[in-house]
Amino acid sequence: MELWYTEEHSPDVRFSIRVDKHLYSEKSSFQRIDIMKSNEFGVFLTLDSLMMVTEKDEFIYHDMIVHVPMAVNPNIKKVLVIGGGDGGTVRELTKYNSVQEIDLVEIDEMVVSACRKYLPQTACKLSEDRVNIFYEDGLKFVRKKEGYYDLIIVDSTDPFGPGEGLFTKEFYGNCYKALNDWGILVNQHESPYYKVYAESLKLANERIKQFFPITKLYQAHIPTYPSGHWLFGFASKKFDPIDGLDEGRWNNLRIKTKYYNTELHKGSFALPNYVKELLS
Ligand code: SAM
Repeated sequence: MELWYTEEHSPDVRFSIRVDKHLYSEKSSFQRIDIMKSNEFGVFLTLDSLMMVTEKDEFIYHDMIVHVPMAVNPNIKKVLVIGGGDGGTVRELTKYNSVQEIDLVEIDEMVVSACRKYLPQTACKLSEDRVNIFYEDGLKFVRKKEGYYDLIIVDSTDPFGPGEGLFTKEFYGNCYKALNDWGILVNQHESPYYKVYAESLKLANERIKQFFPITKLYQAHIPTYPSGHWLFGFASKKFDPIDGLDEGRWNNLRIKTKYYNTELHKGSFALPNYVKELLS
């Protein structure tokens, strides 16, 4: 009997992966957590049946959400990661000796423990000394901080369920406050292709623009996300993500990446016309 994981990308479009083994399935107080093993994408995590992370393509998302801001500000020491319970974002951050403190605020402890067990590829650096894990709502956590972080990365689920609060005006305003004067906010910014995701993208962009003087979007192709065309938000108090890029300095760090490089960094901010129109 064949087992398939299917995600609805739109009312008329479904995406399926053949599953070899269903490794884990639990319901936390926040969401349904499943971990499956597949031939094509390796082990993958879904939350409320939505695709989160696969062994095979996670490098794309985690490279782009971390190395773009890290290549713009060479002095990033204190980082807040909201969401990110699979650990991939933290893993990439630990490649920088300059980073002294990584606060990971993940609302669901069960996600972290499941990923530590079944997705060591992404969770492998969660026990590093520099990493502090807080099992809290990121929306509430960020209210308590002022002028503290150099970088905030919002590696959240989509804007419903527990993730809904991480796309609100209040949250973005509190992120602005929690950042110091040269702070950068990067977030998982949904997709321009299917209607429901495009609406979330537009709304998030409008809200972020109310607080940050510099706001740009950049993109990557992520095979297992709806349409594959995925965007990230780059919001900053001081740094322009392209003018501020010092390619030589970043390349001299000799950080090993499977997807990110500084040419791609610049190119990823060149958006298609239909996306520009959506945002205008
Ligand atoms: N890369 C994935 C994506 O783009 O959809 C997200 C990865 S990570 C698994 C998303 C995490 O955000 C989940 O573990 C979820 O529990 C967490 N999360 C959702 N809402 C949250 C909140 N309000 N505060 C903190 N973490 C939250």
